[in-house]
Amino acid sequence: MARPRVVVLGGGFAGLRLLRRLELLLPADRAELIVVSPVDHLLYTSLVPQVCASTVEPRHLAVSLPAVLRRTLLCLGDAVAADLAAPADAQTPAGGLAAPAGLAAPAAVAAPAATAANVGRRTVTVRAADGSTRAIAWDRLVIAAGSVTATPDVPGLAEHALGLKNLDEAVALRDHVLSRLELADATDDPRRRGALCTFVVVGGGYTGTELAAQMAAFTRRAATAYRRLRPADVRWLLVDHSPRLLHDLAPALGRRAARVLSRRGIELRLGTSAVRIGPDSVTLAEGGSSVRRHTRVATHTVVWCAGVRASPLAAALGLPTEHGRIVTDEFFRVPSVEDVFALGDIAAVPDSARGGAPAGQTAQHAVRQGAAAARNVAASLGVGTPRPYRHRDLGFVVDLGGRDAVANPFGVTLSGPPAALLTRGYHLASLPATANRLRVATDWLLNAAFGQEITHYVPSGTQQETIATAEHTGIYRTPKS
Ligand SMILES: Cc1cc2nc3c(=O)[nH]c(=O)nc-3n(C[C@H](O)[C@H](O)[C@H](O)COP(=O)(O)OP(=O)(O)OC[C@H]3O[C@@H](n4cnc5c(N)ncnc54)[C@H](O)[C@@H]3O)c2cc1C
Repeated sequence: MARPRVVVLGGGFAGLRLLRRLELLLPADRAELIVVSPVDHLLYTSLVPQVCASTVEPRHLAVSLPAVLRRTLLCLGDAVAADLAAPADAQTPAGGLAAPAGLAAPAAVAAPAATAANVGRRTVTVRAADGSTRAIAWDRLVIAAGSVTATPDVPGLAEHALGLKNLDEAVALRDHVLSRLELADATDDPRRRGALCTFVVVGGGYTGTELAAQMAAFTRRAATAYRRLRPADVRWLLVDHSPRLLHDLAPALGRRAARVLSRRGIELRLGTSAVRIGPDSVTLAEGGSSVRRHTRVATHTVVWCAGVRASPLAAALGLPTEHGRIVTDEFFRVPSVEDVFALGDIAAVPDSARGGAPAGQTAQHAVRQGAAAARNVAASLGVGTPRPYRHRDLGFVVDLGGRDAVANPFGVTLSGPPAALLTRGYHLASLPATANRLRVATDWLLNAAFGQEITHYVPSGTQQETIATAEHTGIYRTPKS
């Protein structure tokens, strides 16, 4: 008899952890495992700001999926649509999870052209990099395609802002910043030099805060390599509409991080929004909605780190969503469709520690959800028993570069070298492969000995990609389009 097939969409924090656990829980003869992913690796995003700051080599954060998964087949491409209708003879296996009573399976959404072997089976459509598509049949579908940069309706954002969600964007940002310094060094116009040396990060969450802190230190050091630039020419602004930094984390972390950033000369513009972005400026609005003071800052670099939204795959599948994230119950089941699970950033998984509100979009949640969901997927195939998702917050680490970090392990607030040590140790332990751990640790040692490399891959002045093109958000069709 053919083995049931588990198809996992996305090999990131949630998908990889789920598959590694499924490989242990389900004997090879009980299920076939397939991961659909546009890339052959997991990106360890927590250290991505260090790629921008030339502290870590980009490839060292890419954890090879074929190397860490023993028997899961990798199908390269983006899932863009799925036939979610239950087959006519669908039965819930012993010990499995039945769809909640009273909820009918929806009609198939953008059903792919099934191959002869797939007729009558549920399928997912996978689009390869060359634009060709193929249908893959599934018996259990796990959606773990993560998120993309949230791009609200701010004029000029789509055309001029840079994002920081994947390796391409991280390398492009590093190259862009270094090439602005080169152009600044070459110009005789002091106003133009000022604008080229001004860098604005929008979003004071952990990504924006780490990026601004690390890049300010990096670019001031880099400036000494140019003949006419001085470190004092370089200006970094961190903008957030919230009145406090790291507003999603414990207030003490935000206060301590703000002190480090101010010490590094980063201009904190809290309670401020970016309301217009142009090729050589950003307009900031300070104060509440009634009393708003607008300031125009001359800059050629605006990095948008102001939040993420679920992958557009969620909308393309036509499943019920909450703020764009696929609704699930605490067992990761998607109500109204049988045998479909969702987790990680793309899913609104209820977090019992927050009264059932959707879990935060963090790697910590994604990894734990991966392990918990594996148990429930296995149970749906008759192996083991399902369990609801429970998560105890163990704290957070924020690496500010050098000897600075803030962290609150088990609720204890740390900063300075102890926090930096803990942060680095945490990342080494969390990287899912030994080879990557050793490579990253070596990068840190080499940087400590020789400093960061001040080189870029692409020539100065090369056209920058928009967030939409860098994050491939245009490949999906919503059921209505
Ligand atoms: C710069 C940065 C720094 C961060 N720092 C931290 C941190 O310090 N701590 C923390 O807890 N969290 C951090 N996060 C958040 C963390 O990365 C996410 O919460 C986490 O990656 C979510 O895991 P996931 O598995 O849902 O998504 P991901 O890890 O993003 O994995 C999703 C995977 O799905 C693939 N995919 C996308 N579309 C498709 C498709 N259509 N079909 C198939 N596959 C698809 C993607 O290529 C990717 O491999 C950071 C995020 C960023 C961007």
